[in-house]
Amino acid sequence: MRWGVLSDIHSNLEALEAVLRALAARRIDGYLCCGDIVGYGPNPNEVVGRLAALKPLHAVSGNHDLAVVGRMDLEWFNAYAQAAVVWTRWKLSQEAAWFLEALPERLETKDFTLVHGSPRDPAEEYLLTAQQFIDNLAHFKKFPCFVGHSHLPWCFGVEASQPPPADWGKAPLSPVEIRKVELSDGQKIGIPRGFPWVLNPGSVGQPRDQDPRASCAVFDDETRDYELVRVAYDIPKVQAKMQEAGLPAFLATRLSYGQ
Ligand code: ZN
Repeated sequence: MRWGVLSDIHSNLEALEAVLRALAARRIDGYLCCGDIVGYGPNPNEVVGRLAALKPLHAVSGNHDLAVVGRMDLEWFNAYAQAAVVWTRWKLSQEAAWFLEALPERLETKDFTLVHGSPRDPAEEYLLTAQQFIDNLAHFKKFPCFVGHSHLPWCFGVEASQPPPADWGKAPLSPVEIRKVELSDGQKIGIPRGFPWVLNPGSVGQPRDQDPRASCAVFDDETRDYELVRVAYDIPKVQAKMQEAGLPAFLATRLSYGQ
């Protein structure tokens, strides 16, 4: 199957629609979503509705989704994120709240693992270093593991070489043996079967890698190709909606710069 991989949509409907159009042109069979569906942006209900209609869909909750439905403390967040969480709670429909409440924090199929932050700490950890990747190996058995949270399209993994050990969690690995790839638009990497990889598709609705275009990825579980896709969308339209909604100006401005 060819999977469209989404994360950190953050109530940005224009970015989500642009990404779904780009993925439709790439013959996608199903969708994965690594959480933070809401928070920051102006269209939580519309984004939840659009996402919920995708079939088949595997999705997990992110820290913003958890906070909006009262399952994570607001203290964890900075002032801008807190303001957006409070606004989203006020705006959220009952139907959208039920969808978010029903999401698991971790999902495992026979082919992959799905979490928001990291396998050992799905709600909070930002997986940014080779050592963190190694420290997470004991916490997931189905590869690859798709993550979000950092809003950076970075990947970590082990290249296929020797026969894989019986238990990756006990394999004596050092950070220099870990491959890290910071993917850019159109870049494709092969994910070897049986070897652990963590793949972050970047953020649909609030990229932070200095490329303001919406970010997503395509994973083909037969050819094992993983490709990053960047998509331009109408940023000024989203910013105007955010201003009208009274969301913090900083959150709107940063969309122009992808940071
Ligand atoms: Zn996020």
